[in-house]
Amino acid sequence: MDYHATTPLDPRVLEAMIPFFIEKFGNPASRQHAFGWVAEEAVESSRASIARHLGCEPRGVIFTSGATESNNLALKGAAEAWKHKGNHIVTVQTEHASVLDTCKKLEKQGYEITFLPVDEYGIVDLNRLKDALKPATILVSVMFANNEIGTVQSIAEIGKLCCELGILFHTDGTQAVGKIPVDVQRMSIDLMSFTAHKMCGPKGVGVLYVRQTAPRAKIAIQMEGGGHERGMRSGTLNVPGIVGLGKALDLSIQVMAEESKRLGTFRDKIFGEFSSRLGDVYLNGHPTNRLPNNLNVSFLYVDGNALMMSMKDIAVSSGSACSTADPEPSHVLKALRLPQDRLHSAIRFGFGRFTTEDEVKYVIGRVVESVQRLRETSPVYLSHLRKQKQILTS
Ligand code: PMP
Repeated sequence: MDYHATTPLDPRVLEAMIPFFIEKFGNPASRQHAFGWVAEEAVESSRASIARHLGCEPRGVIFTSGATESNNLALKGAAEAWKHKGNHIVTVQTEHASVLDTCKKLEKQGYEITFLPVDEYGIVDLNRLKDALKPATILVSVMFANNEIGTVQSIAEIGKLCCELGILFHTDGTQAVGKIPVDVQRMSIDLMSFTAHKMCGPKGVGVLYVRQTAPRAKIAIQMEGGGHERGMRSGTLNVPGIVGLGKALDLSIQVMAEESKRLGTFRDKIFGEFSSRLGDVYLNGHPTNRLPNNLNVSFLYVDGNALMMSMKDIAVSSGSACSTADPEPSHVLKALRLPQDRLHSAIRFGFGRFTTEDEVKYVIGRVVESVQRLRETSPVYLSHLRKQKQILTS
């Protein structure tokens, strides 16, 4: 139930990767012999297939170690390359730490950053974004789909606006690519980050898409070295990982329609059962513009951490895996400006390809039982019940 943190590798992905560890172990940069040619061919075939799925040119696909690196490269690279034009960057309060912390670092270096607020569902208001833009704005970075609450932004509209104004548009597509339709051309996206391990692919490999067709998205190199990836990201390529990423995206696209339907049904069933059997439960995130595989729920009168601890056999989370050491409610939920009791009782459920109906049934039963048990010993809940009784009898 924690597919937003990471996912199991699809056995078909592993099968595609295996030859590139032992038999076909060449370095794609070895242009002088067949070991290198075989590896290069595999990398280029993966690049072409990823480009086809994203609706872009293969040259625009830059392989990295994952979305954290891609976000760093996009933001630092764009900030440096466009310094002569301006120093203002716009992003959103609910972004992943790899975007927020990179922006904070750029702020220390003299860039001006606007961290846009969101509404109670996690949506960025387009007019508010428009108002934030100024002649010095060089970059807008808005996440495609949120990793905690699943809210999907109006990416095509934001892209269109940035394109009209000649401002670079980056999106962190980590939770969206392979789950919902993404087309960088149609959505006017200039830069997009994503990673393999959120779509049943391997960890440690990702992509930064960098628009190569007019208007080209120029970014400054952040990793000096042997000039791999046409100079944009030096370092020997992770060939098995790249093959795995290509295969993982192929499979995700193949099953997307059927998988989103199945997972959307699970999501609605789980929330429906919580609502009818427990009461006082709230959905966090947008009711319709959201990922099919995400459910973020507040169970009033229960502490989210206590609930997680009471169900050690279920892997859920109260925030992003990148910041769960922090007992504070997540920055995403805080940005929604929810009441305190909703902030402290929120749990994120994430499911995917290998989630079964039996698991869903088990989780529903286990959560309902745990919430009921915790509420029975909660002074706030008991006082709430007493008040309700008084209202009914008066
Ligand atoms: N962005 C988002 C939205 C994410 O969910 C994650 C993973 N938690 C990342 C970036 C970082 O990805 P990676 O683990 O590949 O560095």
